[in-house]
Amino acid sequence: MDTSRRKFMEQVALAAGVVALPSSVLGATPASKFNLLKEHSADFWLELSKEAYHKNAGVISAMANQKPVLAVIKNNAYGLGDVEVAKILDSNTNIEGFALVKADRALALRKAGVKKNILLMGDFDESLGRDLVKNDIILSVFSAHALQKIKSISNNSRKQIKTALYIDTGLGRMGIPFNQASKFATKVSSSLNLTIKYTFSTLTTPKDFAKEQIKTFNALIQELSKKGVNVGKTHLAPSFSILDLPNSHQDMVRPGILIHGSFPIADMEDESKKWPLVPTYRLKSRVIRLEKLSAGDTIGFSRFYKVTKDEWIATLPIGWGDGYDSGAENGAKVLLNGTLYPVINVNANHTNISLGASTKIKIGDIATLIGPEKPEITPEGFGKLIKRHNYLQINYKESIPKFVFDAF
Ligand SMILES: *Cc1c(COP(=O)(O)O)cnc(C)c1O
Repeated sequence: MDTSRRKFMEQVALAAGVVALPSSVLGATPASKFNLLKEHSADFWLELSKEAYHKNAGVISAMANQKPVLAVIKNNAYGLGDVEVAKILDSNTNIEGFALVKADRALALRKAGVKKNILLMGDFDESLGRDLVKNDIILSVFSAHALQKIKSISNNSRKQIKTALYIDTGLGRMGIPFNQASKFATKVSSSLNLTIKYTFSTLTTPKDFAKEQIKTFNALIQELSKKGVNVGKTHLAPSFSILDLPNSHQDMVRPGILIHGSFPIADMEDESKKWPLVPTYRLKSRVIRLEKLSAGDTIGFSRFYKVTKDEWIATLPIGWGDGYDSGAENGAKVLLNGTLYPVINVNANHTNISLGASTKIKIGDIATLIGPEKPEITPEGFGKLIKRHNYLQINYKESIPKFVFDAF
């Protein structure tokens, strides 16, 4: 980390009001004065709270009667950093391991030192097969073709290959159709070098159908254990089912969105009162331009926003091209020096905020676009204000710098 970057992050940490600065964030250099605008290059960044992730892991396990949690961190942990999140949760005793969809990301987790189980729920390129096995990645048997591929690695490897039987009980997207599953399970369990670590499926949201899926799955597990097939540990439930169907919990639960402190759908008011999940991240940027516009001026390509009286407009250097939702211009708010201001325009690289007729905001002031400070800017509050869902951060670009704090 170069000096200017380190200094920048000290400023970030100070702005966040963090007292104990973890060395993972700051390195060992003592704080010093510097000019924010001259000396760093990040336009926006993410801050993650270890404390919040640990808290949520405990809350989710409590939702599932203390069952372990297999954390789904696909899509770069919904945009928040798969390696960062896995490193935080790797020490958590409620966490069984991590599940994701891309083989290269599974390997990246191991490279970063993640020790817990890693389940690859997707396909892999044959060229990565040996590396995946060497790194103890659990490979999903989701089709005849996938099984063939796994077997071909096993022919060239003495190592036991850990597999997971991925069963399709009705989502219709991935997995072995349940009526063929028994045959497949027998094949896998009788293969010398293959071990079944998990048997899993995914539930849909409509309750009646999800209940049928659970019945189908349980009948299959029963049939297999009668046949003497060791199916390993079982799991079915994404976030919605964890809350909606207690009998979906199986040996462990498999949430994605709950880990980051959001409920899967907007109207889970009762659930959110009962289960105190906390937002785990902040998205921040800083003011790079301040101008006073007058009546008749407009903002944006489409001239969508029309100024009706003198109005200070701030520009933040983040836009929908960076993954900030373009719908933010339809009612979202941003926190600047303790006050919420409306977002009025989102372009590919810029977002405009209306500050009103007069302002004390200065260039360089740091804005929190998403964070735990106010209900309007939590991930859920943001989704609600702009009438969108709670998974919007999934579009954050991987290149957004991420800083991990012990606590917010
Ligand atoms: C994405 C996914 C999950 C997690 O979904 P959430 O709604 O975020 O909890 C669980 N299981 C599978 C197979 C998935 O693809």
